[in-house]
Amino acid sequence: MTTDLRTTDLRDAVARSLEAEQRLPALPTDWADQVHQLAAARNAVILAHNYMLPDVQDVADHVGDSLALSRIAAASDADVIVFCGVHFMAETAKILAPSKTVLIPDLDAGCSLAASIEVADVLAWKTGHPDGVVVAYVNTSAAIKAEVDVCCTSSNAADVVRSIPEGKQIFFLPDQFLGAHVRRVTGRDIDVWAGECHVHAEISPSDLRATLAANPDADLLVHPECGCTTTALYLTTTGDLPAGRTKVLSTGGMVEYARDTKASRVLVATETGILHQLRKLNDSTDFMPVSARAVCPYMKMITPAKLLRSLTDNVFEVDVDPVTAARARQSVERMIEIGSPSRGGE
Ligand code: SF4
Repeated sequence: MTTDLRTTDLRDAVARSLEAEQRLPALPTDWADQVHQLAAARNAVILAHNYMLPDVQDVADHVGDSLALSRIAAASDADVIVFCGVHFMAETAKILAPSKTVLIPDLDAGCSLAASIEVADVLAWKTGHPDGVVVAYVNTSAAIKAEVDVCCTSSNAADVVRSIPEGKQIFFLPDQFLGAHVRRVTGRDIDVWAGECHVHAEISPSDLRATLAANPDADLLVHPECGCTTTALYLTTTGDLPAGRTKVLSTGGMVEYARDTKASRVLVATETGILHQLRKLNDSTDFMPVSARAVCPYMKMITPAKLLRSLTDNVFEVDVDPVTAARARQSVERMIEIGSPSRGGE
């Protein structure tokens, strides 16, 4: 892992993103109408991840998790996909919808988890383990997906690993907490890359325990894919968190849960952008963040002004070279063959 480098990269990316925002014209009051008109004129569909700013979520045609949005992109008859999310998500949309133009409103919207591993790291492991199998969580770049054998989401990661013949050496990347969980539940000997999401890593187990103790009747929703929630997943399986009140769900699963729950209070351990969707769906339940600090600076780079600019100026196109895309698509399709990836992508 290159933690120091990523920290520097993040600081630089945030500075560039803020400067770019300041150079844009003032946001017109009718910006949402303009976005809809431009999208209609260009036959564009606007997809927004659950961690987007509320205004961006509200103007989008679809809001959801990364894999669900990529599948919507592939099935859509739109010519242009405006992906309001981070870069690896827009790449996944391009991999699954190669004939469409995919735009992201800010190229600096990266991901610390995806950036924790490079292609050379994967190749080095493969060189040392020529008969081994590499499993990649979907929070990875297209270049990484192209080098691995199969992708997984949190919900099917264990099934993907169980599908690998006994005795094969396995490399799981890039999330160390999800990898450790899969190693534990499958009992397989797995090399796990020591990557993590810096946003979720800051929601500590003590944050979880303290919030639960202060809200003894509340349900707890934890997201299984990022660092904090895979830590929580570990604590649940070891009995450190009460399983009866702890539900491990992707952002898509949280949205479904919010529709049906009768709980008066629900604690949510993931990026705080999801709270907007949950509260919109159910105003009789009190949805509270486990940590108000869990804000992804990359996700928040996608602002209304940048979305408007994206449609006006046709920027920024996300491309994946066809060879890389074809190899990456195979890894994603192998995952889909093994088990349902639904409700599992970030
Ligand atoms: S919340 Fe974490 S895993 Fe998700 S995009 Fe941000 S940095 Fe990446």
